[in-house]
Amino acid sequence: MASGYFRKLTLRNTWLTLIIFAIPFLALLLLVDLKISRMIKNQINSQLAAAVQDNLKTIKLFIDDRLADLGSASQMPCLDFGCLPDQEKIFLNLIREKKWYDFIFIADPAGQIIKSYNRELKGDISSRDYFQASIKGYPHISDIFQSDITGTSVMVISQPLFNRNNEIIGVAGASINLEYLYGLISDLRLGRTSELFLLNDRGEILSPTKLGAFPFAEKAFSGEQNPHRGEKGVIVHRDYRGEEVLCAFQRLPGTSIYLASEMDLKEALLPVSNFNRLIVYFFLPSLVFLIIISNLYSRRVTGLIQKLTTNLSRALEECRERRQQLDRINRELEGKILESQRLAAELQLSEQYILHLIDSISLGLAGIDLEGRITRFNKHFASIFSLEEERKGDYLLTAVPALNEKDIEEAIRLTAEEAVPHHLTARKIDRGHGEEYLNLSFFPIVNGNNRLLGITLLVENVTEKEKLRTKLAEYEKLSALSQLALGAAHEINNPLLGISSFLEILQEETTDPRKKQQIEVVLENVYRISQTIRGLLDFARPTPPRFTRVNLNQVIEETLAFLAHQPIFKKVRIEQRLYPRLPPITADLNQIRQILTNIFINAAQAMPEGGVLSVSTAKVKFEDFVQVEIADTGIGMSPEDLKRIFDPFFTTKKTQGTGLGLSISLSYIKNHNGDIQVRSQPGKGTTVIITLPIHQKGRRPEGTEEVIN
Ligand code: ADP
Ligand code: MG
Repeated sequence: MASGYFRKLTLRNTWLTLIIFAIPFLALLLLVDLKISRMIKNQINSQLAAAVQDNLKTIKLFIDDRLADLGSASQMPCLDFGCLPDQEKIFLNLIREKKWYDFIFIADPAGQIIKSYNRELKGDISSRDYFQASIKGYPHISDIFQSDITGTSVMVISQPLFNRNNEIIGVAGASINLEYLYGLISDLRLGRTSELFLLNDRGEILSPTKLGAFPFAEKAFSGEQNPHRGEKGVIVHRDYRGEEVLCAFQRLPGTSIYLASEMDLKEALLPVSNFNRLIVYFFLPSLVFLIIISNLYSRRVTGLIQKLTTNLSRALEECRERRQQLDRINRELEGKILESQRLAAELQLSEQYILHLIDSISLGLAGIDLEGRITRFNKHFASIFSLEEERKGDYLLTAVPALNEKDIEEAIRLTAEEAVPHHLTARKIDRGHGEEYLNLSFFPIVNGNNRLLGITLLVENVTEKEKLRTKLAEYEKLSALSQLALGAAHEINNPLLGISSFLEILQEETTDPRKKQQIEVVLENVYRISQTIRGLLDFARPTPPRFTRVNLNQVIEETLAFLAHQPIFKKVRIEQRLYPRLPPITADLNQIRQILTNIFINAAQAMPEGGVLSVSTAKVKFEDFVQVEIADTGIGMSPEDLKRIFDPFFTTKKTQGTGLGLSISLSYIKNHNGDIQVRSQPGKGTTVIITLPIHQKGRRPEGTEEVIN
């Protein structure tokens, strides 16, 4: 910051401190000055007034004494002036004893001076105030005045003159010795310019003054108006010299004479100005001191502020730099956070991806650590062993009791020890609901440093496969058997054909009706054998599909007629409601026959204790379809079984069933673009509905298949 600013600041601070400190100081000084000046003035005033009063008392006492002297001398022992000469002694004594009087005179009632002592006087005083007062019986004190009779300044006191009868017979007057009077008021111990003098109410000086004024020569004031008025007062005015004076004055009682004590104002106020000077002497250095101190102080304060400001601005600068640094770091940090968030998200995604990957395979997968604890497993593993998520961290062999077997433990141990995969194929496991077969594979988990981290357990449920394998073996056996049966059927059929031909001829030739009857019975049985064998052949003979026009009602009747002789149909009552106008359909006769046979046999097998098998046909309204409904009153199925009946090799019949009937039927129906639906209620029965199209798109019937009974 500019140094000019701090110079200004210093100056301002100096002024401020000066004002702050100097104003109370000045005010105090002024107050003290005022108080003390007033006190001094009052003191001087009262000194002057006291001088006046003291002197006035003396003068009054003196004059009163003189009046009393004159009064006692004015008692005449005779009736008129006849005894005056005797009185003379008294008056003369008055004059001679002390130098108080200049002269004494006696006037007659007309105002003519008839006698005077110590001075020769003649004249008329009838107009004088003192005469007029005293002739009326009052003592009187005159002013000091210039007498035209004596030609000098006089002050006359007068008393009435009484005769023996106490009648006024004249006036006795005495002139006060003015020198003496003046002598009385000379003693004043005030200053150099102080004066004490008498003056009259016109302001004329009546007594000589210390500074050289002569009685009647000067007026006690300069200017128009006499400032000495009233009984007494303390005033300031200009005196005969033109000087400004402080004046205390008081009237001599009963006269128009004032006694005034004056002093030059300058001198009177000298103590005040001395004091003021003292104060100034004291004040000035203090002020200078204050200025210096406040300047120093201000400099110091400003210096401090300057230092502070510099430090502050440096600190601010540093702060700004730090802030910028911080901002930069923050930005970097933000970037890093975002980056790590992105990485975390990616990681999570990839972890999730791996989890989904593991879950997606239909093999059970579990990780085991080196101590045999489960680290992770997929959905399939959980479902195979009904394992809950919270079993993570448990020992595998305790969490999954089904796996707690010697060989499995051994396989885990070996995998860990040798770090090579181990497999247990089609391991039979018993989890309480039937036999199950699992392929168990143990793979070592090895990290980049070839360090073993744990073991992956891969579980494949091969129960179905295993069952299929067993079934297939059985099926192969059956197929061999059917080949055998086929051969046997041919072998039987040929001689049977010969037998029946022979019997027919024999019947023709026989005339005996009883024999004819017997041959008929044998023939019927032979036909039946032939029919059975034909059915067996039809079923077993694998023939390529051949689409022909087929009369469905007829196929049903024929198949049922063939089966009705089988032992399992012994207790079954067959009811047929075949729609007479059912249109012929385009189909492979053999496949249709096999479908029906399978379903009829299933129905019969479901009714081992007997029941009703009802078969009906119908044309689907407004559509190019026919329907066959086959219902039994058998044992029915559970919903779970119902879901699986079309699975190949699914059977509930143990050794009696192959589990192939419905699956083959379904494939045949699909061949015909048809549909099969099964409804079943356990204990009540089962209904199978087959829907078949009347026409096969793109297939023309090769002819009409005639069903041979
Ligand atoms: P199989 O008859 O050899 O067992 P299928 O494929 O013909 O094989 O039938 C499969 C299974 O469907 C049977 O084992 C049986 O449990 C069930 N099933 C089929 N038809 C019926 C029926 N009408 N009533 C009860 N269960 C039936
Ligand atoms: Mg069957």
